[in-house]
Amino acid sequence: MTNLTTQQRQYAERAESVATEFSDEAYTWHGEVPWNNLARLVEADLYCPSISEKYGGQGLSDLTAMILTEAVGRSCPDTGWFSYMQSMVAPRAIDLFGSEALKEEYLPAVTAGESIISIAISEPEAGSDVGSMATEVTETDGELICNGEKTWVGCVPCGDAAVTWVRFPEGLGSVLIPYDDPGVKIEEVHTNMAGYAQTHFSIEEVVVPKSHVLTRGKEAFKQQLVSLNWERLGSSILTVAWAEAALEQALDYASEREQFGQTLDEFQGIEWKFAEMYRQIETAAALVYQSAGGAQGHERPPSRLQTSTAKLHCSQIVENVVSEAIQTVGARAYQQGHPLEYLYRFARGRRIAAGTDEMQLNTIARALKDEGLPAVSQR
Ligand SMILES: Cc1cc2nc3c(=O)[nH]c(=O)nc-3n(C[C@H](O)[C@H](O)[C@H](O)COP(=O)(O)OP(=O)(O)OC[C@H]3O[C@@H](n4cnc5c(N)ncnc54)[C@H](O)[C@@H]3O)c2cc1C
Repeated sequence: MTNLTTQQRQYAERAESVATEFSDEAYTWHGEVPWNNLARLVEADLYCPSISEKYGGQGLSDLTAMILTEAVGRSCPDTGWFSYMQSMVAPRAIDLFGSEALKEEYLPAVTAGESIISIAISEPEAGSDVGSMATEVTETDGELICNGEKTWVGCVPCGDAAVTWVRFPEGLGSVLIPYDDPGVKIEEVHTNMAGYAQTHFSIEEVVVPKSHVLTRGKEAFKQQLVSLNWERLGSSILTVAWAEAALEQALDYASEREQFGQTLDEFQGIEWKFAEMYRQIETAAALVYQSAGGAQGHERPPSRLQTSTAKLHCSQIVENVVSEAIQTVGARAYQQGHPLEYLYRFARGRRIAAGTDEMQLNTIARALKDEGLPAVSQR
């Protein structure tokens, strides 16, 4: 990281220092929210950095939220994941697009580390093909009514509400749906490979107060896609952090384990693994920070070309790096309950969540065809 401001560097140092406290409990979570770690981040004034100060955040940049995600995710993958989700995804959308009433109602509890908000986009018949979603909000006598269903949504059992993508008569938009609304019915709770719940819920005749509309109208879908670009950079840096965690574990283990009368890290074949893992991590981190550094908030967001390239690259290198770390450790790392075994399962989801690898490839190709290669002057 070479382009951080002094303030960002100091923030990173504070985050790294607090994150060391998480290592005892790291890899012990089995689908629960690491509430005590979130509370520690809140105490240290580090949680939800990109949420407005007025609602308990720090009013800092999205890049700062990424710095937090990397520092924390390296020490505790789960705390990193929640930090990213609550700084860069649904609560960020409320902060950016929500009414004053909505922000006051939901954000202070989120930034206090006491409430979780999900993002609900996917539907049983609309996964990658988001544009074909069927959940709709209709207007009758000035009243907004939502009907539909969402699936694979994270953090429903532990959460309070979902930023929900919907279809208005004039096009796609988003609203906030609280889970305690009587029209919200949990249909099925799946458990994913990492042990987290992913929920299918239906929405029946839910009345949406005007204050709960986040985006609507001509610009709505564009606004949502911009926030997705930042989300993708958040997901990218999270996976970089996990790859770093895996490499650290492999380095530690190989410095102690002896075979053929020497430690593993003295074999050139193992040294080359470390070099190769680091090459992948460092190119990934450079790509992510370069994409974020050239952007400025939501006024000058990172481009779809950069964010899709970063998301694709990072989601793939983490799988490879964790796999190579497992290879370095051998059978121990393949056992249930080993940190690397858990990381492998956790990391695998990132090639599907927040846009699959294939959708990132489609976006990259489309951007290249529409806009051509970025000019040297834009580097
Ligand atoms: C860990 C995890 C967390 C998630 N969290 C959430 C969440 O919180 N909220 C939420 O709304 N959703 C969430 N999802 C769902 C996720 O967004 C969807 O799984 C994703 O968009 C893909 O949809 P799908 O699974 O229906 O696959 P499909 O869209 O059915 O795709 C299946 C396969 O076909 C490929 N494919 C589809 N279209 C094309 C194309 N045009 N060209 C080439 N290949 C194509 C896909 O890339 C994929 O490999 C999560 C998923 C995971 C794994």
